[in-house]
Amino acid sequence: MTTGKLLVISGPSGTGKGTICKKLFEDFENIVFSVSMTTRNPREGEIHGQSYYFTEKSNFEKMISEDGFLEYAKVFDNYYGTPKKPVIDQLSKGNDVLLEIDVQGAMQVRDAYPEAVLIFILPPSLKELKNRIINRGSESEESLNKRLGEAMHEITYADKYDYAVINDDLDEAVKQVESIIVAEHLKVTQN
Ligand code: 5GP
Repeated sequence: MTTGKLLVISGPSGTGKGTICKKLFEDFENIVFSVSMTTRNPREGEIHGQSYYFTEKSNFEKMISEDGFLEYAKVFDNYYGTPKKPVIDQLSKGNDVLLEIDVQGAMQVRDAYPEAVLIFILPPSLKELKNRIINRGSESEESLNKRLGEAMHEITYADKYDYAVINDDLDEAVKQVESIIVAEHLKVTQN
């Protein structure tokens, strides 16, 4: 049976992983983006069903009890999870599925699907990361500090991934991630 690759991309907020993922969709036509479910409030411009499926905590917990998630985690006091069925359906159609998820979720995926390809996106430095989060402008001081603390924690997981890419220059980082995906498809043996 042909199955696609399960691709996982993580990295601290502000590291540019969202922008990298957008480029991947432009360049690879058989990559499908998994739309996560979350209990956090939508940010300006976010669209239900595209950015996330926004839902109530009670509904999220119901889906947990029904084993409806491939993985899920609590990040910044909110639930985030990958609905299982769409991912399995797309993989069995031969499409690659890209999950942009946090480190807790990525470790669950790695344990449940050892063939998944895990890519960690690193900022060039913590100073640069702080600038990027500030420039995004959507964070209060408290939220900024929380995200920075979380970022430092997440970075300690980078060596548990298959690949680590530093996003200093966006085009270069995209090229590197694309090379990883191409190489994974050319692999003769799976370990
Ligand atoms: P944000 O609130 O900035 O959209 O996302 C916060 C964090 O949650 C990011 O690190 C993002 O990658 C992660 N995240 C988004 N969707 C999921 C998901 O389905 N599962 C997990 N485990 N993390 C997710």
